[in-house]
Amino acid sequence: MKNVVLLGSTGSIGTSTLKVAEDLPDHIRLVGLAAGGNAKRLLDQTLRHRPEAICVRNAEDAKRLSAALGTTTKVYAGDEGLIHLATLRSADIVLIAIVGTAGLQPALAAIRAGKDIAVASKEILVMAGETVMNEARRHQVRVLAVDSEHSAIFQCLQDHSANSVRRLWLTASGGPFRTTPIEDFPNITMERALKHPSWVMGTKITIDSATLFNKGLEMIEARWLFDIEIDRVGVVVHPQSIVHSMVEFIDGSMLAQLSTPDMCLPIQYALTYPNRMPSQRVQTNLAQLGTLSFEEPDLERFPALTLARRAGEVGGTMPAVLNAANEVAVAAFCKGKAGFEEISRIVERAMNRHTTVHNPSLEEILAADAWARENALR
Ligand code: NDP
Repeated sequence: MKNVVLLGSTGSIGTSTLKVAEDLPDHIRLVGLAAGGNAKRLLDQTLRHRPEAICVRNAEDAKRLSAALGTTTKVYAGDEGLIHLATLRSADIVLIAIVGTAGLQPALAAIRAGKDIAVASKEILVMAGETVMNEARRHQVRVLAVDSEHSAIFQCLQDHSANSVRRLWLTASGGPFRTTPIEDFPNITMERALKHPSWVMGTKITIDSATLFNKGLEMIEARWLFDIEIDRVGVVVHPQSIVHSMVEFIDGSMLAQLSTPDMCLPIQYALTYPNRMPSQRVQTNLAQLGTLSFEEPDLERFPALTLARRAGEVGGTMPAVLNAANEVAVAAFCKGKAGFEEISRIVERAMNRHTTVHNPSLEEILAADAWARENALR
């Protein structure tokens, strides 16, 4: 039985995690749930799963939840509450699925309390990959990937070290604008960008999938998770989203992990690792699928990949700047205040203006994040 704390339980990854827990009641127990502003959904989840403790963003919601739940469940609020949950004595593993940067401090707190972490929130490793992985090594805990691409690589790598790897290949669906001519980019609206061809996900990551910033963030995430230089992390477009990623070994052999797209699979693998548990959710019929195709990403229409590679190569505080400026630009796009193709321009401008701090402390990373937000907003 794994005791799991789930941060971001009301979101897309969060609700898939609840399904996995319901599928495996003898193997997964949810001992903590945390949400942002959706107190109603958190209450429903709490009544169903009976965790020891929950957390919600604002104190007023916490009071209301506390009144509704009585003494059966401890209710916390805000960033401090997230730390309480991440370090809950009974927890074996903390799954972090909070969109944005609010998951970073709880991730570090969980590691320092000796908990394994399962990471969906890519912002954590993009911003502070070196710090997180160093802390995990120091406290001898695992950092398990929830992202389908990194889970695929993890499943293919098994115990092989980075020395036996020639390249990691992240697959990208190409998003809804894979074949859209560049002249049409100024007409792209949020509604169009939210129509992802293969995955149903939260708003931010869906827009990132349309710009390919999502793949850029994943390149940096892979660099830290698998301790490999970023120039050995490649991207190939694979519109069917069946091959979730691949490892190319030094002898030329390539291993891939295939399945129909469903986040329940990598979530379950992270929570039951090193075991595999039965599940009927994912069925893959290759004959019915017929064709799996691959193509080069178009770096001219999708500059996000080049920007992310540059941020990964420069290192230090630059990835945090890329991530924060992109968050601001995506929010502006969603409010109709910036065009689709402006997202990468805003990020590039912030990166050009940033003076990188190498080997940064956590405070310097957070300062770079704040600087980039302000700069991008301006
Ligand atoms: P959603 O937008 O669907 O959900 C975000 C979750 O974060 C919600 O539960 C939200 O709570 C919670 N949240 C936001 N701010 C806070 C806060 N300050 N404190 C506590 N909780 C907070 O996002 P997704 O589930 O799509 O994505 C979550 C993360 O996982 C992202 O980093 C994304 O990049 C990553 N990811 C997602 C994948 C997917 O398939 N969706 C795949 C791989 C990675 P509330 O709704 O109550 O406000």
